[in-house]
Amino acid sequence: MSELSTRDRVHPTRRVAVVGGGVSGLAAAQRVIALAKEVDVEIDVTVLDAAERPGGVVRTERHEGCLLEAGADSLVPQKPAAAELCREIGLGDELVEIDAHPGSLQVVHARRLHRLPAGFLLFVPTRLGSLLGSSLFSLPGKVRIALEALAGRQRARGDESLRSFVERRLGSELYERVAEPIVAGLFVADGDRFSADMALPRLRTIEQRFGSLTRGMLRARAAAGRGHGTASFLALRGGMQRIVEGLVGTLPIGCVRGGSRVTGIARQRAGGYSIEIDGRAPLAADAVVLACPAFELGRLLDPIEPGLGSDVAELDYASVVTVHLAYPRTPTGPGLAGHGFFVPRTEGMPILACTHVGAKFPGRTTDDVTVLRAYLGGALDPGMIDRRDDELIDLAHRSLAAMLDIRQAPLWNRVHRFPRAMPQYPIGYRDRLTRLNDRLGGIAGLELCGGVTGAVGLPDCIESARRAASRTIQHLTPDSVKLPLAI
Ligand SMILES: Cc1cc2nc3c(=O)[nH]c(=O)nc-3n(C[C@H](O)[C@H](O)[C@H](O)COP(=O)(O)OP(=O)(O)OC[C@H]3O[C@@H](n4cnc5c(N)ncnc54)[C@H](O)[C@@H]3O)c2cc1C
Repeated sequence: MSELSTRDRVHPTRRVAVVGGGVSGLAAAQRVIALAKEVDVEIDVTVLDAAERPGGVVRTERHEGCLLEAGADSLVPQKPAAAELCREIGLGDELVEIDAHPGSLQVVHARRLHRLPAGFLLFVPTRLGSLLGSSLFSLPGKVRIALEALAGRQRARGDESLRSFVERRLGSELYERVAEPIVAGLFVADGDRFSADMALPRLRTIEQRFGSLTRGMLRARAAAGRGHGTASFLALRGGMQRIVEGLVGTLPIGCVRGGSRVTGIARQRAGGYSIEIDGRAPLAADAVVLACPAFELGRLLDPIEPGLGSDVAELDYASVVTVHLAYPRTPTGPGLAGHGFFVPRTEGMPILACTHVGAKFPGRTTDDVTVLRAYLGGALDPGMIDRRDDELIDLAHRSLAAMLDIRQAPLWNRVHRFPRAMPQYPIGYRDRLTRLNDRLGGIAGLELCGGVTGAVGLPDCIESARRAASRTIQHLTPDSVKLPLAI
């Protein structure tokens, strides 16, 4: 008989397996451990990740003396979960604010760069004067946009596409020239198919509450006490990888197991789960947090609840590529004002957006180069991910050279691919999510977090992970004091 301590006999150590070691999975593991300490329960957590290195799509690298973000580079401060986590895990001093002053964002129209007029909050104009003076819209387009404030509350309807929502409120010019490149660009989405409820939940609420996006955004800004026109971003001085390192640093040694692709999950008769891992011994767990993409979940959930996995796996993901190009910084070099620019699909260019790395993140590049990051692929260009590196570099270079009058060849480049990385929520996905949650509610000790739950972007992923962790602890310690479910 194995020797158990008195404590173990009273409260046996519980085991939690987290499937997926991206930021969602790591944040869930960190939170489970933190909450277990709070309720004084022994919990062993193992994070299983298919890849060798944790972090999922978050990757920062140093190249030729420059700090480059392959994927996520900034955090929206309006969603505080990521910044709060950073402070909690000791990265508070590394958070830096990036001031997105008016003009720091540009959009391409008719193959020329145009500044976003001052007062645009996301794509919602809040200053009539700067809208009227903008070179980006035609006169009828400006009138249509300005009428938004007078259109009033429109009949509450079910979900609709991003395009339908924005065009209904602000007209097609604003959709095509600003909203589509910015919002569809953030989600690398097809705005005709992507759910407005999932992409813009706050604006959907604002429409219903204030009857005008412009009025609602002005009120929200006043309530937040912000004096300036555009919101700022947050970043980490050492790059987003610091969040991954910080999270891993809070976990016990050996907790994160790389190279561990989970191939199956089975319910145990005695309770709990057995986790099948490719090429390794199975792992027993009392509870499981699933933090991997939907297309992996089909296989994992169906044996537990027939049909559930196949439903989940229907969620499509878009692939995206980032290409960093470094040009010599000379007087005739890229004269890029601001942080970068977005490209509407109507321009027919191969790139979706460009970030001027040194301007957006001062100090990250060496003095002799201008580093630009081009974004390619997405739902409307699914073949991009399969192109060769030299083709991607050429497409990015030719687009940037044309827009920025660059005459030199790039000195160096870095190409990063993110296959099936961005969830593409179809119209009506929120209802599907409700049904999914109802069904999951009946499966004790199994939680989901990350993209499948509607979380896109690090703050939402972290928030979803923290909720999953709270529910896991409540399942494992039903007699403990109640923990907050909503973080
Ligand atoms: C190019 C790009 C730019 C972005 N820019 C920003 C930005 O500026 N700001 C922002 O907030 N967000 C940004 N995002 C979004 C953000 O990075 C993601 O929403 C977030 O990182 C997703 O984290 P995750 O852990 O949920 O998923 P992932 O990072 O996809 O992690 C999932 C993990 O599951 C593992 N896995 C898969 N299958 C299995 C299996 N069977 N067994 C075990 N493990 C498995 C994978 O190896 C992976 O590590 C960007 C995303 C991309 C791709």
